[in-house]
Amino acid sequence: MKEYTSRALKKNYDLGQYAALYRSAILGMIKEVRQGERDYTPTTLDFGKVKFRIARHFGFCKGVENAIEMAYQALEYNVGKPVYMVSELIHNPYINEDLTRRGLQFIKTSTGKQLIPWENLHADDVVVIPAFGATVQDKAIMQNKGIDIKRWDAMCRFVEHVWFRAEELGKKGFTIIIHGKFNHEETQATFSYSNRFAPTVVVKDMKTSHILAEIIAGTRPLADFETYFRATASEGFDPILHLQKVAVVNQTTMLASETADIAQYFRQVMLQKFGEENEAQHVGNTRDTLCYATKNNQTATHHLLDTPADLAIVIGGRNSSNTSHLVELCETQLPTYFIRSEDDILSEKAILHFDFHHQHEAEIQDFLPQKECIEIILTSGASCPDSLLEKVMIKILSFYENVRPLEEVIGDFMKE
Ligand code: SF4
Repeated sequence: MKEYTSRALKKNYDLGQYAALYRSAILGMIKEVRQGERDYTPTTLDFGKVKFRIARHFGFCKGVENAIEMAYQALEYNVGKPVYMVSELIHNPYINEDLTRRGLQFIKTSTGKQLIPWENLHADDVVVIPAFGATVQDKAIMQNKGIDIKRWDAMCRFVEHVWFRAEELGKKGFTIIIHGKFNHEETQATFSYSNRFAPTVVVKDMKTSHILAEIIAGTRPLADFETYFRATASEGFDPILHLQKVAVVNQTTMLASETADIAQYFRQVMLQKFGEENEAQHVGNTRDTLCYATKNNQTATHHLLDTPADLAIVIGGRNSSNTSHLVELCETQLPTYFIRSEDDILSEKAILHFDFHHQHEAEIQDFLPQKECIEIILTSGASCPDSLLEKVMIKILSFYENVRPLEEVIGDFMKE
């Protein structure tokens, strides 16, 4: 029988005023019970006609949970005052819409479009910094207005760690290569900080890394730097001067394995050019900058895919980078549906799937196979509340008669 403390029960069943919006009693309990387990075996909830295989790690990370709690607290402590957030708290429409309903105002969209002019903000306004952080320029604008930007700073310490490593390496003469999406808020923020200390350039993926590597190796004309990287490089970036010593950091929600591959690839390129004996002078070690949560969710998804299943459902915001990476992993093996919430499950016949590769939604028919017992892989991105995953389970179960009662299923889980 799994050890189960009354503290865990109390914490997960007695949800706080706002926590009820994003926590799930069932999934919170499962997470709590499995806390500290080192293995990545998925949790199976066997309802008879439907078996859910739930990733060992899924959903909210500590950084996101902390940011959400801070945003709700900021609203609660500052009734009657304008409460702003620099951009979306997290990439999840459910939470963002709830915060907006309660009065939170976003200054910018997730793509950087200004929604509220800076002139509208005043010294005693409340501004919450999201988990991704904010750009140095935006912080300076707010500080110049006298806004206390430290009071409600929810920037994740793992993102902060990336910044500090970029600063440290920049001071040692390294150029920073950021593996990220240039327009993503986190990459924008990291870029703005990094380029104060180091020439900085952003690569989107392995394909763009190859182009940059060929420029470093001299097998591509330098002019290609202008074509491919000028728009994502810091001002004054000189490809002759600034590609002699490099270190790779990442947007923490990118595919961890891809960042590791990119870092290793640039290491090889530099060793080939400058010699293995000169590694320390030309390659910065940034292995410690990968976020544990993104890595865990992705590793848990790999393990999920080792278990038998008919389909996978991945829940998260459409602009959530880490969710799309989970979808990418699942769709290599089985039919995968990327949804925002239970509302995208239109009926037992149809599901509204977001094809993030082509950025369009498609209504897919007959997504649930006609079988005696179906097995469904379930996971969610770092910005998806557990409550949504629970609602997805409940909605699917509602399509079947005579499923096993929840207490019995949880009882089995506890006995394992
Ligand atoms: S995904 Fe990682 S870096 Fe991003 S908020 Fe969560 S813990 Fe922090």
